[in-house]
Amino acid sequence: MYKKLIAYSNKIFNLFSIIASITDERLKPQIDTVKIVAAIVIMQFTNLGSLNSLSQEIAYKNFKKDIPSVSTIARTADSLNLEEIRGVGIEIYAKARKKKMLEACYEMWVGVVDGHEQIVSPYCKCKYCKSRIVTKKGGVKETQYYHEFTAFILAGPKISFILDIEPILPGEGEISSSYRLIERVCKNYPRAFEIVIGDGLYLKETVFNLLEKHNKHAIAVLKEERRQLSQEANSLSLLSEPKVYRQKKTYYRVWDHSIEGCWDGYGKGVRVIVSEEATPKRVHSKDGKSFEDRLNRANWMWVTNLPCSDNLDDLKNTVRICHSRWQIENQCFNETVNTWNADHVYRHSANAIIVFLLMLFICVNIFNIFRIRNIKDRSIKTKIYLIELINAGFHATRRPLPPIPIPI
Ligand SMILES: [Zn+2]
Repeated sequence: MYKKLIAYSNKIFNLFSIIASITDERLKPQIDTVKIVAAIVIMQFTNLGSLNSLSQEIAYKNFKKDIPSVSTIARTADSLNLEEIRGVGIEIYAKARKKKMLEACYEMWVGVVDGHEQIVSPYCKCKYCKSRIVTKKGGVKETQYYHEFTAFILAGPKISFILDIEPILPGEGEISSSYRLIERVCKNYPRAFEIVIGDGLYLKETVFNLLEKHNKHAIAVLKEERRQLSQEANSLSLLSEPKVYRQKKTYYRVWDHSIEGCWDGYGKGVRVIVSEEATPKRVHSKDGKSFEDRLNRANWMWVTNLPCSDNLDDLKNTVRICHSRWQIENQCFNETVNTWNADHVYRHSANAIIVFLLMLFICVNIFNIFRIRNIKDRSIKTKIYLIELINAGFHATRRPLPPIPIPI
């Protein structure tokens, strides 16, 4: 399976050629940058999880000729060019989109933005380290250092595609970092999405205006704290009938209000979508002997500047698109940490941390496409099993790398 994945990455995405465009700033490099980047790709694809595991593989399999030493990889990662790595991500995206490997999310191309704490470390080693005091058991206080990022993904019905990340610097909040991220993503992926979704934090006129400048619509979660808008929506809901429908097991009561003059600063009318959702669920009864039927209820409100539509199917799709925000939590943050070790500090420097994350996202994107399009074997049900097969293939191989073009 390892060979299949490497061959697929090379044949479909030309991966081992396009990574040759990445450079670094070592003064007298003895090893070509492309070999170092290729080693990182192998480490991420095989989910080795640390440079230490990679060094053991190199020693055990006698890969010294093919794979540079981990100290060289770590040192080079300090100065690998981030924009060039992002360029590789853009090329992978362009190929995937052209070959129709990505799908729109309920008839729209949807971007999702959110912030996340990625890495925790007991040591402060770089300029992006944020710090906090943690009180441990027994009252011992300890300073903890951590890195936060905002991330941007494309949501999709089967897979989400991770586009980019931006560090949240010490002393700034998520929104400041997201401005830089949104600007860059709109520039690098101008036609990849038509709408961007964020949580309650993103209900800001600056965010809506920035996206409007790039001809994108916005959706943000509306929380009770935004008194004027949420109260107006609630009182309008009392006065009007919802649209009622069922999708799969969930029953929906949805109101779609057009509201003007309740959002100081934005100055334009917006739609507030209110959704009351109820899903029947069968759970074990307290005595453990039988089952009980329960209704799981959830209430949601979103604000958007998407144009209004009277069509019920459009409204249903809009509600589903609003819900696709969870993909960034599940498929980007949780999955890359739980399955792909994205919270591991491979090398603690401001540049290297981003290098390893961007490279991981490139590999995860290719892996996800490879999995849904190429794995027809029904026995390979889970991602974890497929990763294990790839890892086992790597252990068995004698030549871990395809021929790599060395730039002159
Ligand atoms: Zn740091």
